[in-house]
Amino acid sequence: MSKEYDVVVIGSGPAGYVAAIRCSQLGFSTACIEKWLNKENKTVYGGTCLNVGCIPSKALLDTSQKYVEAQDHFSIHGIKVNKVDIDVPAMIGRKDQIVTQLTQGVKGLLAANKVDGIAGTGKLISANKVVVTGHDGKQEELSAKHVIIAAGSVPIDIPPTPIDQETIVDSTGALEFQAVPKRLGVIGAGVIGLELGSVWARLGSEVTVLEALEDFLPLVDRQVAKEAQKILSKQGLDIKLGARVTGSKLGKGAKKTVTVEYLGEDGEHKATFDKLIVAVGRKPFTDALIDPEVGIEIDERGFIKVNDQCMTNVPNVYAVGDVVRGPMLAHKGMEEGVMVAERLANKKTQVNYQLVPSVIYTHPEIAWVGKNEEELKAEEVDYNVGVFPFVASGRALAANDADGLIKTIADAKTDRILGCHIIGPSAADLLQQMVIAMEFSASAEDIGLTMFSHPSLSEGVHEAALAANGHAIHIGNRKRRK
Ligand code: FAD
Ligand code: NAD
Repeated sequence: MSKEYDVVVIGSGPAGYVAAIRCSQLGFSTACIEKWLNKENKTVYGGTCLNVGCIPSKALLDTSQKYVEAQDHFSIHGIKVNKVDIDVPAMIGRKDQIVTQLTQGVKGLLAANKVDGIAGTGKLISANKVVVTGHDGKQEELSAKHVIIAAGSVPIDIPPTPIDQETIVDSTGALEFQAVPKRLGVIGAGVIGLELGSVWARLGSEVTVLEALEDFLPLVDRQVAKEAQKILSKQGLDIKLGARVTGSKLGKGAKKTVTVEYLGEDGEHKATFDKLIVAVGRKPFTDALIDPEVGIEIDERGFIKVNDQCMTNVPNVYAVGDVVRGPMLAHKGMEEGVMVAERLANKKTQVNYQLVPSVIYTHPEIAWVGKNEEELKAEEVDYNVGVFPFVASGRALAANDADGLIKTIADAKTDRILGCHIIGPSAADLLQQMVIAMEFSASAEDIGLTMFSHPSLSEGVHEAALAANGHAIHIGNRKRRK
């Protein structure tokens, strides 16, 4: 006899647990299946984001940034500290404790919302049936009026550098180092490469980043990407662009090393590292997830095919988060989870895919939303640009944190804000006010007419919007129009 639910969700990452909670809030009987086991072999909810992604990486980013501040910045404020040291196992332990707190929190949220958390691996065997195989091998069948697949993604590995999670690691292994590697190699100058490369560079590693592409951060506004490359290089990241990794060899000594071979513009190179992080992207995870008989369509890159409402080609089966097209971001999956739940309850909720904010949590942070100049030029849209450098911000100077800029782009005819691109302190939080403004179709003038607290970093958002129309007060106005 199978247990019956209105909704069964497979996966409890940000897309899955949010979908499950919202379904239950809307009155559907809901189960959420999760296969993840933590270091103690216990089922944990929260997926990649909470266990080995967003949260643990930010815990290490915050610790390492505090270390930099204590070592290099406190003296500027007149604060004297004796020798600054890092206790790496304590840093990793703090990260683990935050992960435990938050995964326990999700377990509690599921229970409080009357979602049945089910431990094991779920497999869709028909449009309305899921079989769960427990960690003890026992199977249970669940019937569901609707199934939401939220199975997430896993790191991509490449043949030249097979992961052993000891010397050659993926992002998960890079969150577990027990000592600061003297020489750290990173393959991929993407989000993970720059965030985790920064963690270990701040703590003293000599970091070399090998990136296959010739352009640095090709999806980011060019001015912001150039500024980022300059700042991160100054922080000690040796970023080698156009570097194609062709092979690697593990050293034979007691203290393992890895020698990486790569092709640059000027020929073949070798570099030896104590640890190597492979961060070349992630791929959707659909292993043993769906019986082919169900007929769910998967695209050529392995993503489950869905429409704008996250419906698959099989009625009553939905898919959300990293396992479907679009940016692999926790907040994008959460919004999709809410959308599906609400549409099951006959609401007309939609995700605005035009306004998915992106953030790289380096220091300073890099954050953007909407269109950049390159995209607008390609679309032949006339626009105005306002740029505010943080060096003109009293608040940023007071904090000794004045690298970077805020750029606002507005339509030349309508003044509607088309994009915002920031590199600077608290860029993620600053950007969010522009995301809200853009959701409400605000113009640059609307932002200019809004009162901002003084002194605050947000004043930079105000000034960049004023600058787009040539009347910033605290910087010179060089109105730039395409
Ligand atoms: P996941 O979080 O991957 O969750 C899927 C869950 O489904 C997993 O728990 C898995 O065990 C479970 N599952 C899979 N198959 C089955 C099955 N058959 N049965 C039962 N359970 C199953 N994004 C951001 O927005 N901001 C960040 O700062 C950020 N930082 C990141 C840092 C790192 C190091 C990494 C690796 C990722 C980061 N991401 C970040 C990306 C973010 O983690 C993902 O976009 C997000 O977790 C995707 O959510 P999801 O629910 O789709 O999938
Ligand atoms: P990514 O796509 O951001 O970057 C991968 C980089 O590796 C690219 O620049 C690519 O050109 C390069 N690359 C690929 N193959 C290579 C090769 N063989 N040799 C050298 N370089 C190579 O992917 P990621 O950094 O692994 O992150 C994966 C996903 O996780 C991203 O989609 C991202 O959205 C998500 N994530 C988000 C955050 C955040 O929001 N702050 C943080 C971490 C991860």
